[in-house]
Amino acid sequence: CHAFASPVRDDSGQVAGAIVLLLDVTEQQRAEQVRREFTANVSHELKTPLTSISGFAEMLQNGMASGEEDVKRFAGRIYSEARRLIALTDDIIRLSRIEQSGAVEDEPVELRALCEGAAEALRFPAEQKQVAIAVSGDLVTVRGSRQMLDELVCNLADNAVKYNRPGGRVDLTVRREGDWAAVTVADTGIGIPREHQARIFERFYRVDKSRSKQTGGTGLGLSIVKHIVERHGGSISLESAPGAGTSVTVRLPFSGGFEKPPETRNF
Ligand code: ADP
Repeated sequence: CHAFASPVRDDSGQVAGAIVLLLDVTEQQRAEQVRREFTANVSHELKTPLTSISGFAEMLQNGMASGEEDVKRFAGRIYSEARRLIALTDDIIRLSRIEQSGAVEDEPVELRALCEGAAEALRFPAEQKQVAIAVSGDLVTVRGSRQMLDELVCNLADNAVKYNRPGGRVDLTVRREGDWAAVTVADTGIGIPREHQARIFERFYRVDKSRSKQTGGTGLGLSIVKHIVERHGGSISLESAPGAGTSVTVRLPFSGGFEKPPETRNF
């Protein structure tokens, strides 16, 4: 907090009082610190795959690959590290777009259809992991950006599949709760230890860095989700038990569109 003080004098020049101006800069300072940390983190996150790519390319160039197997292996590493860089830059671009964009679009978006679209898109990775996805609940319409809300649901559902276990489940449920439309993404996965729960919405924060990298995570998904929720005037809550699963609920202002629930759809 910055303070500026100036004496107030009476007609005879005696100090009769003071004007004190208190300026709250904590919020500004915090934002500045977040920005600085972000730049440092981005540099580190970019450098790691780039160092690998450069190392493997150099080995290929120097003829250090002994046979076709090696060539394939080095090329494979270059390819997967390059994919990581693409995923990372895509997420950084998304995040800055969400932060910078002016007013959020004002389109009617029906949430149950959005969830079904996300489930459909995840069919292949879910099948590979032997995770069953189901969508149930009301047809509820909110107003906002279809693209952002789609990204929100896809990011949450993607995590629910990624951090799940073979034979697990992901349930997406849409409910109207008075003035709010609630979307819950519940999984039966590995869960998040309590001490990490408050921090996983921070940029680049991961519970298990190597696991997240293995699954292609950038560590930005949940911070993108949080931004989208905030830009839509909503809130987000998380419940998780290590070893049992995680349930994330997003509440968005309800805009008036509502229909009785159709049957559960399994994917
Ligand atoms: P990432 O790209 O690493 O998945 P996110 O921002 O989406 O990044 O998530 C941050 C971290 O929170 C993840 O690395 C993971 O440790 C944890 N996490 C997110 N969702 C879940 C979930 N459904 N179950 C268990 N852990 C999760």
